[in-house]
Amino acid sequence: MAYYVGVDLGATNVRSVVADDTGTVLGQSRAQTPHGPTGIAVTEAVLGVVREACDEAGIDPSDATAAGIGAIGPLDLAEGAVENPANLPDTIDRIPLTGPLSVLLDTDDVYLHNDTNAGVIGERFHSDRNPDDMVYLTISSGIGAGVCVDGHIIDGWDGNAGEVGHMTLDPHGFMTCGCGHDGHWEGYCSGNNIPKYARELHEEDPVETSLPVEDPDFSAVDVFEHAGRDDFADHVISQLGHWNAMGVANIVHAYAPLIIYVGGAVALNNPDLVLDPIRAQMGDMVMSNIPEIQLTTLGDEVVVEGALASAMTGGTGDRSRL
Ligand SMILES: [Zn+2]
Repeated sequence: MAYYVGVDLGATNVRSVVADDTGTVLGQSRAQTPHGPTGIAVTEAVLGVVREACDEAGIDPSDATAAGIGAIGPLDLAEGAVENPANLPDTIDRIPLTGPLSVLLDTDDVYLHNDTNAGVIGERFHSDRNPDDMVYLTISSGIGAGVCVDGHIIDGWDGNAGEVGHMTLDPHGFMTCGCGHDGHWEGYCSGNNIPKYARELHEEDPVETSLPVEDPDFSAVDVFEHAGRDDFADHVISQLGHWNAMGVANIVHAYAPLIIYVGGAVALNNPDLVLDPIRAQMGDMVMSNIPEIQLTTLGDEVVVEGALASAMTGGTGDRSRL
């Protein structure tokens, strides 16, 4: 029997699953991602959840055939590590992953991906048509995409392709992105930036609203909760829909996907309010084939499922490689 390991390393949690060669999960484990003292502590946490998942599956880690990892970025693929992760404290400069996991599992077949690439591998693997051309887009605390073109998962230099959240959509640069540049998609539409954007819009035109724009805890959740009940909330959601549609149209023109799966907390919690405006505007914005735009089928499991699918298919999500 062959066994496969999937790992999802996020800024909040680290998870692992162990499955047999049919993809049936036999063991799993989860822990909080350590925020210090160094990256080695995070490596140890990854190895810890993998050991626990193997325990629950009743196998020795060295029985594993291959492993896949979906991790926060940025990555250094040549070193098999996460390098200066943006969403963890500065003391965590490097998180070695591929090497230590290869040693634990006694296999060289360890595939490291950024989390959105793991996402597209998972969606590809589980999609009926197992398409060669598709995109996984996450709209969460950040915005990013995993892209599969002509059957190839696009990694790019150091594994950092698909940073679509940092495409410039607004030449006037009304909002400044967390990366420091003006006018980036993520500066308007990510979960972290939606409340800031709403505040800026309200400052520009201080209409009456029941949204708690002055409250320090004002969040994206408030905006979507007031949909249909507050004109200003509807205005913000319509602006978000405009920017999201523009970003997705750029993705369509760049990669010609057959289907785009959308995940991430902002989309998962508000599927219609986020996806309908995108679908509605594609015809006006796209000059080529308009892809299907769907909510992820894998929900919160998309990264760990993608990491597992990567382990089972040599890093591709291509079911013919099972
Ligand atoms: Zn940016």
